[in-house]
Amino acid sequence: MIPYGRQQIDEADIAAVVDVLRSDWLTTGPRVAEFERAVADYTGAAHAVAVNSGTAALHAMMAALEIGPGDEVIVPAMTFAATANSVVYQGGTPVFADVDPDTLLISAESVERLLTPRTKAIVAVDYAGQPCDYPRLQQLADQHGIPLLTDGCHALGAKLGNRSVGTLTTMTAFSFHPVKPVTTGEGGMVTTNDANLAARMRVFRNHGIVTDARQREEQGTWFYEMQELGYNYRICDVQCALGIQQLRRLDEWISRRQEIAARYDQAFGELGNLRHLSCRPGVSHGYHLYVVRIADGQRNRVFSELRDAGIGVNVHYVPVHLHPFYRRRQQTQEGMCPHAEAAFSEILSLPVYPALTDMQQDLVIARLHAAVRTAQRRAA
Ligand SMILES: *Cc1c(COP(=O)(O)O)cnc(C)c1O
Repeated sequence: MIPYGRQQIDEADIAAVVDVLRSDWLTTGPRVAEFERAVADYTGAAHAVAVNSGTAALHAMMAALEIGPGDEVIVPAMTFAATANSVVYQGGTPVFADVDPDTLLISAESVERLLTPRTKAIVAVDYAGQPCDYPRLQQLADQHGIPLLTDGCHALGAKLGNRSVGTLTTMTAFSFHPVKPVTTGEGGMVTTNDANLAARMRVFRNHGIVTDARQREEQGTWFYEMQELGYNYRICDVQCALGIQQLRRLDEWISRRQEIAARYDQAFGELGNLRHLSCRPGVSHGYHLYVVRIADGQRNRVFSELRDAGIGVNVHYVPVHLHPFYRRRQQTQEGMCPHAEAAFSEILSLPVYPALTDMQQDLVIARLHAAVRTAQRRAA
């Protein structure tokens, strides 16, 4: 099976993990801070707070903003459920914005229509690894005096102009799940330039426990107190050792993903009922996903044909407002985000990862061409 995405692990990664296993620190030790510094330096953000998943990173952002009952947070409908769930963890209400049909990125027009006095933040998702239209979204956020955030789980290493994802909004969440740009097994990070938000997230990931150095001196080294409700969202040194190594190869991996994407773009130029998503000008796309749209109701059959041929195509994503949980909780339904819903019936994610060979890619292209030609005959 050729999967749609997979991790890349080399001997240096393995050696770095083994070193930690032989050291005194398994959980929060020197590697956590080192990995945070590495991601901050890589993106150009002032602060980075490491946690144990991308979902925890999203939750930490919502907690840092004190999102709570009665608050609305605008999120795109076309994303992984965790983007919206992080709002619900805090008791808030995710409000689903539609997406641009050519990029599947959150539509500023849709956001504008959904803003209310209860809107406390906007979360943009850099879907597939492509940065959103941040100048336009920032304008809307500024007009309403609310922060703009990024779910950058697809997009570590992507850029808008010469600025990296991680510095484009108030806070950015990253994931280090194995299919993501770099992995720690499970893991996540938030980057921000705001020292106060970073400090709040450091407390949040550790049960809400504060240890004040001065009080500790006065009252003995045992002093600590819990100021807020927090969680155990700590990532461990074993994982961070892997992350530090992975990050060193990220630029090379992104170049390879861009090469693969360019070959796909070229191969799919002239097919009637198949088109690929577009890349906005000025963007260095991270290509976590390479997504095509297959028209005429043929996507499911093309999906099955490719799966039968050992090609692990996938569908990213079921629009979040169509999940039973949100239908029950918020009475969401079909028709609320027409572009996301139309895309959902047509999208297919093709294999893209650094170790994918040209030969494997040629096989994917040939199989897809054949499946699409059969689909065209069926549709005619
Ligand atoms: C992967 C992903 C997440 C969740 O990250 P985990 O590390 O799996 O918790 C959130 N949002 C998006 C867009 C993702 O792709």
